[in-house]
Amino acid sequence: MKLHTINSGYFKLDGGAMYGVVPKSMWNKLNPADENNLCDWALRCLLVEDGNRLILIDTGVGNKQDVKFFGHYHLQGDTLDTSLAGKGFRREDITDVFLTHLHFDHCGGSIIREGDRLVPAFKNAVYWSNKDHWQWATLPNDREKASFLKENILPIQESGQLQFIPLPEKGPDTNGLLSSMDFTENISIRFVNGHTDKMMLPQIRYKGKTIVYMADLLPSASHIPLPYVMAYDMFPLTTLKEKKTFLQEAVNNDYILYFEHDPVNECCSLQATEKGVRHKSFFQIGDI
Ligand SMILES: [Zn+2]
Repeated sequence: MKLHTINSGYFKLDGGAMYGVVPKSMWNKLNPADENNLCDWALRCLLVEDGNRLILIDTGVGNKQDVKFFGHYHLQGDTLDTSLAGKGFRREDITDVFLTHLHFDHCGGSIIREGDRLVPAFKNAVYWSNKDHWQWATLPNDREKASFLKENILPIQESGQLQFIPLPEKGPDTNGLLSSMDFTENISIRFVNGHTDKMMLPQIRYKGKTIVYMADLLPSASHIPLPYVMAYDMFPLTTLKEKKTFLQEAVNNDYILYFEHDPVNECCSLQATEKGVRHKSFFQIGDI
């Protein structure tokens, strides 16, 4: 098995929205905002070579919206294509596209414009979501609607390439928080519900370690302290519980965290401190 970082660029989001109830005087030291209160964030996907499968986890923002849309997000740097090419891969090689959830910054690169049609960017891949999240995203609530763009989502189903990962059964004492199931021999999926309904976090067994793709449960290392919960989250108190449970489990088992949105740090290990769980060291996936 081999892991490759696929950085599909950087974008900007409002710092206040990203740090929730944490005051700017504190978060601005961690990720300094520009004059419009916007901070830089990565769109870091992960490519997993697992046996004869080539699994791409999340696909960034993509490029099919109009100038006005991209005017809000200041996209820059690598794209999915340049980043894949840099590792010696083409879009046709991908066998599986695993979508943690269907917010535009996680699935936008899944669908491209070809003439006046919207078609899958990965013609030979199965696209993975789950039934509950698909329903949540295609019948969105008014608060979350701006993140679920029809043009990113509906063409996946129309292409016939969509498949659903079975949902785990809720255990009596897990409250749904710890549910997980196997995706491949080396990858299990953790389901969380605070950010959006049934977001999926891949947990990858690699070189004797467990690497967790954090998606939007912990978008960056600066979100490790418990009160740092995004204002974007649908159910912040659920996120809080999920973070607490996850961080304890992660520190006990020496998990490595892989950050999708951290503009600087790709991975970290954790340690227990007097203040709670904090990062121990930062590194890149190639260093493991
Ligand atoms: Zn996100």
